[in-house]
Amino acid sequence: MAEQAAKTKAKDTKEALVTEITPQSEDFSRWYLDVVRRAELADYTPVKGCMAIRPYGYAIWELIQHGLDRRFKDTGHVNAYFPLFIPESLLMREKEHVEGFAPQVAWVTRGGDEDLEERLIVRPTSEVIVGTMYSKWIKSWRDLPVLINQWANVVRWEKVTRPFLRTTEFLWQEGHTAHETEAEAQDETMRILGIYKEFVETELAMPVIDGQKSDSEKFAGASRTYSIEALMGDGRALQAGTSHNLGQNFAKAFEIQFQGRDKTLQHAWTTSWGVSTRLIGGVIMTHGDDSGLILPPRIAPYQVVIVPIARGNWQETVLPRARAIQAELMGQGVRVMLDDRDAYTPGWKFAEWEMRGVPLRLEIGPKDIEKSQVLLARRDTREKLPTPMDGLTGQIVTLLETIQKNLFERAVQFRQDRTKRVSTYDEFKALMEGRPGFVIAAWCGSAECEAQIKAETQATLRNIPFGSENVQGSCVKCGRAAAGEAWFAKAY
Ligand SMILES: [Zn+2]
Repeated sequence: MAEQAAKTKAKDTKEALVTEITPQSEDFSRWYLDVVRRAELADYTPVKGCMAIRPYGYAIWELIQHGLDRRFKDTGHVNAYFPLFIPESLLMREKEHVEGFAPQVAWVTRGGDEDLEERLIVRPTSEVIVGTMYSKWIKSWRDLPVLINQWANVVRWEKVTRPFLRTTEFLWQEGHTAHETEAEAQDETMRILGIYKEFVETELAMPVIDGQKSDSEKFAGASRTYSIEALMGDGRALQAGTSHNLGQNFAKAFEIQFQGRDKTLQHAWTTSWGVSTRLIGGVIMTHGDDSGLILPPRIAPYQVVIVPIARGNWQETVLPRARAIQAELMGQGVRVMLDDRDAYTPGWKFAEWEMRGVPLRLEIGPKDIEKSQVLLARRDTREKLPTPMDGLTGQIVTLLETIQKNLFERAVQFRQDRTKRVSTYDEFKALMEGRPGFVIAAWCGSAECEAQIKAETQATLRNIPFGSENVQGSCVKCGRAAAGEAWFAKAY
């Protein structure tokens, strides 16, 4: 009982809430886990490495899905669904693919009372099952292109997991396309990378570097992998999405063949591409601060929270006004939460919704009504803005756009401050030992130099941005002529 009373009392003070989140400067990784748990985005489950995504976290995922799905459909893609299980023999057909994924595969060996004749894997990704189906569906050049996307869960047996960033089961979309020519497959690979960049920057306010992965970091079985890379608040990079040109590798392994315009039998050119619930982790670590989450308005489940100030007969005076404001905002498509719970004080609610990252708080009390105004509080800058009720909805819509833009600009500035171009390996190492971030350096293109850099500094080659292939110079590691300029960072 005493403990319960203490808990209730603690809930009444703002300070008690804030101290439940470890400051970023003290332990960024602890801060991240605290935010995920306290903001009720996700929780641990009895299944090792698997998380339960809570409604608030899932609402963000739904907004991400909605925004991407629209973009895929606008560019001619359609959704379909493929099985969760894949027979072992199919996985074995593409050599590099099986080598890449075998260590992470979960197996099904029994069904009911019987051992299975052929073991099944739980999909870690779906190229092999999709390829098998495409070999049945594609017969002629007239059947191409095939532009299919699937929203699904996949399983990769991970040793070290972290909610959203790396979990044994996760949600994602995976696109799988087949084309008549190599050039069309390459165009598709680039089109999707462009969609990812535009989406992540516009909706998640997360600036990214787009470029090509090195051979050692490319997708198992791909000819070329491209990625978008973001920089998190602790200076580590996050791969936020990948788009693969698979060449004819999977088409040959799975006999995806078609009769060409010249009547010859040809292998199709395929691509695959995906982003996952990892993006939510990216949002948390790009924008959050010591008070918790900061959500970009475009993917915030609630863009505005209305907190009525409970004084006097507020339920007769303030509450009806708050409800009217809510209805008007909702009419304009704004996602609004009216927090009229009796059991919590306004101060507690302020801290709670701040911690959960709601972009804009609207306070309204008896005095505000007398003055025909409300108080708006921005989560990103913490500014408090007394705002007339007259024209309020328009003001709020504009303010949400301003917040979205500000968060993006802030993240761009942060990345700029944390990106350095170096010409010597000593500089490279010093930067990686000090304040982390992106380091741009010339690289000869050899996997050996890349591996040595990784072993000695923990920095991985994130990607080679477009245009950087042509940069002259000498490799930061070995001094030989550079094949281009690459971006390195310690990464998630
Ligand atoms: Zn080198």
